[in-house]
Amino acid sequence: MYDRDYAEFLKVQNATSGFRRKVFDSLTLTYRSYFEFEYAAKWEDLSLRAITEWDDLDEPGNGVSYSTTKIGYAAIISHLTSQIPSSKLHLNHRIANIDYSGEKTKITLVNDTVIENEFDYVIVTSAIGHLKKFARKMFTPQLPKRLLKAIDKIGMGTSAKVFLEYSDTTWMDSFLSPLPVAGCQGRKELGTIESEFNTFQKVPWAPNLFMGWIAGHGPEKVDKLSDEELSKILTQLFRDIYRNSSIPQPTAVFRQKWTTNDLFGGSYSYV
Ligand SMILES: Cc1cc2nc3c(=O)[nH]c(=O)nc-3n(C[C@H](O)[C@H](O)[C@H](O)COP(=O)(O)OP(=O)(O)OC[C@H]3O[C@@H](n4cnc5c(N)ncnc54)[C@H](O)[C@@H]3O)c2cc1C
Repeated sequence: MYDRDYAEFLKVQNATSGFRRKVFDSLTLTYRSYFEFEYAAKWEDLSLRAITEWDDLDEPGNGVSYSTTKIGYAAIISHLTSQIPSSKLHLNHRIANIDYSGEKTKITLVNDTVIENEFDYVIVTSAIGHLKKFARKMFTPQLPKRLLKAIDKIGMGTSAKVFLEYSDTTWMDSFLSPLPVAGCQGRKELGTIESEFNTFQKVPWAPNLFMGWIAGHGPEKVDKLSDEELSKILTQLFRDIYRNSSIPQPTAVFRQKWTTNDLFGGSYSYV
């Protein structure tokens, strides 16, 4: 539907090819990328129905989204864990198998250790991306077919943030939508990485961090790069956008590689 409407729009705008086409493709990329990020879905996989079901519990016309502060999700986790004795929490114990064939459930770790305790109930909260990869061997007996089918069918995509740290931020805008356009910024074509980045913003509670948003096909491509390679590409992009060759390389790059971390297999699910 989108492709059909966009093709029609380009015709009306007399922009089916050439530079005008490149400008509209770039503008539309920001629009697409917004939805790809919110739903962690590649544009071609995202159901239009998902867009109609968006609700962040904001009141109409209020324009306020609920967000975490510099404390982030850690505040929720510390509140919950403060109620549980630390002897009951086992971090960094990766589970390979949950055997619920007997009266009590047995748990085996990936290093083949069988946990001494046996359990009445086990609640699994692994991401769908992990279950997609491991659900068929993680449970004994195997999960019912209906559940395996649901795990296969639900989408798991990736939205990711890349944080660049700087000591000098004088060159930086608080919000930058670079809209890379082939034929501008002194280059005929755009690299496949830089065209994935179309929004950066200063982190409000850490203004020395410039945060880039990536979604769709971006995270898979970016996760294959080393920090050094990524930092080089983005520095060149900023230098070209600002026409300022003295913009420094970031002092550090902070990011999670959600696509390659098999405890997650992406960042969140979509339909
Ligand atoms: C970049 C990004 C931005 C986001 N932005 C927002 C936002 O603005 N608002 C919002 O509400 N949500 C946001 N989310 C989503 C939110 O972070 C997740 O929905 C939430 O963290 C899911 O929590 P969870 O406890 O269900 O699962 P998870 O956080 O996935 O926790 C599951 C845990 O299980 C562990 N685990 C998995 N498999 C095993 C195994 N076999 N054995 C032992 N342990 C295992 C994992 O290591 C992990 O610690 C964002 C996510 C990302 C990646």
